[in-house]
Amino acid sequence: MTARAGLTGRSIIAGWDGAGSGESVRAVDPASGQELNPEFEFVTEAAVDAAAVAAGAAFDVYRETSPAERAGFLERIAAELDDRREAIVDRACLESGLPRARIEGEHGRTTGQIRLFAREVRLGSHQGVRIDEAQPDRAPLPAPDVRQRHIGVGPVAVFGPSNFPLAFSATGGDVASALAAGCPVIVKAHNAHPGTAELAGSAVAAAVEACGLPGGVYSLLFGAGRVVGQALAAHPAIKAVAFTGSQAGGTALMATAAARPEPVPVYAEMSSINPQVVLAGAAAGDLEAFAAAYVGSLTLGAGQFCTNPGLLFVPAPAGGLVEAIAAAVAEQTGQVMLTAGIRESYHEGLARLEAAGADRGATGSDGESANAPAPVLFTATAAQVLESPDLQEEVFGSAGLVASYESMDELRAVLEALPGQLTASIHMTESDHAAAAGLVPVLERKAGRLIANGWPTGVEVNHAMVHGGPFPATSDPRSTSVGTLAIRRFQRPVCYQNFPPDLLPDAVRDANPLSLARRLNGEPQL
Ligand code: NAP
Repeated sequence: MTARAGLTGRSIIAGWDGAGSGESVRAVDPASGQELNPEFEFVTEAAVDAAAVAAGAAFDVYRETSPAERAGFLERIAAELDDRREAIVDRACLESGLPRARIEGEHGRTTGQIRLFAREVRLGSHQGVRIDEAQPDRAPLPAPDVRQRHIGVGPVAVFGPSNFPLAFSATGGDVASALAAGCPVIVKAHNAHPGTAELAGSAVAAAVEACGLPGGVYSLLFGAGRVVGQALAAHPAIKAVAFTGSQAGGTALMATAAARPEPVPVYAEMSSINPQVVLAGAAAGDLEAFAAAYVGSLTLGAGQFCTNPGLLFVPAPAGGLVEAIAAAVAEQTGQVMLTAGIRESYHEGLARLEAAGADRGATGSDGESANAPAPVLFTATAAQVLESPDLQEEVFGSAGLVASYESMDELRAVLEALPGQLTASIHMTESDHAAAAGLVPVLERKAGRLIANGWPTGVEVNHAMVHGGPFPATSDPRSTSVGTLAIRRFQRPVCYQNFPPDLLPDAVRDANPLSLARRLNGEPQL
């Protein structure tokens, strides 16, 4: 494959130059509603098969790359993305309507997380090596020599969301963590930002070529989720699925993966309202500053974040605090949403909250674009939220619901009733610590990330981060889609019992030629 100079509208599949399905999509500038060039040709099922077969064929070569080779490949991807930065940022701004500063930040996050995974691969701790040496003299039976390492599961299908055209897309965290695990990747490009996907995907294809890897290590497919995406998830060569987006899309892929003759895991990150609990001490502080910070998080990126703080619990009577928040919301102007479809589902979400009995507390102003609806604040009681599943459901966009609670018992009861979440925050002063301690066990069961005195938007990419949580926040609460622990999703342990030394992989050899941190007979071996 030769490097692509610009947009072609064609999928990236090693060695494939077959015909398209006849269907296609054009990106739309969400601010103006104008269609953009070029047309992106949807692939046929034969092309899905070609990509999956190529990924399967590449697996054994790719997974046996040394830590240095694999880290070098990841670093090359980051460098190729940096080389294409201007073009990628320009196109992502055009296709998403997101401000340039946000997209520039996302580009930096994307290359930063790829480089973080490269460092992790070099360190090698993700290989999770454990060695239990033979005990020939053990009575009554000798113990065998057993050596464990983690290997990649096989080719991974990745579905990114509309709201992160870079950090969760064609070269996002799922792609980086699967490649770090030693798995070839096939991305189903999102139809809201196909040009961004092609430009970023071309950077990976260039790195594959530069590093002399098989072309099947990375493919990017254009097509409809319900056709191409489903065919991909059902393909026998695919051994895991990573998804970020709507609950409907995630659960459809879970059903497909579970119904295969060989079911495979799906790591879907879907929906969350990220409950915010304000305790009495915090509610007696600087209300205007608190309201400004809350509304800043609520309206960031037009509220189109899975970490958006959709539900805020405040102690009754909540007068002053609700008034301060309402005043801050009323001053806000709508920002361009990602697609007309997302704007429509935002309006449906507002109608759902009203129908469920929430009161409209304040409405900001519409933006200049027809696709920039006003932020809205709703109010209700905690008792109403407890009774109504509709008030517990995420509205994707800048819609906040403030619910007042009468007692800590009522607050605990409503938190217990909430579905699984990505995050939960407690806003408190020192005088609230005893009350907060009573909530922590409930929130630990509900969410993957608990935050003290902070807002959930903005997710650090590091080693300790958990961007996950119980269903429906994700399909598998044992994992995270952000941070280096994300690699674990795409690995499985293999052990070698009584293997001759010359047949052992380097990771588990006595001499530790890769200098890995390992456990020897249960003890750390550095
Ligand atoms: P999405 O519609 O779920 O799409 C994500 C990706 O999955 C796309 O590539 C899509 O393909 C594919 N897909 C969707 N349904 C599928 C199915 N049944 N089978 C196979 N693949 C499927 O997510 P989104 O575009 O980010 O958001 C759209 C809607 O989800 C909005 O209404 C939004 O309110 C809601 N939502 C999003 C998030 C988020 O974090 N992104 C969170 C909560 C709610 P196509 O391009 O062909 O559709």
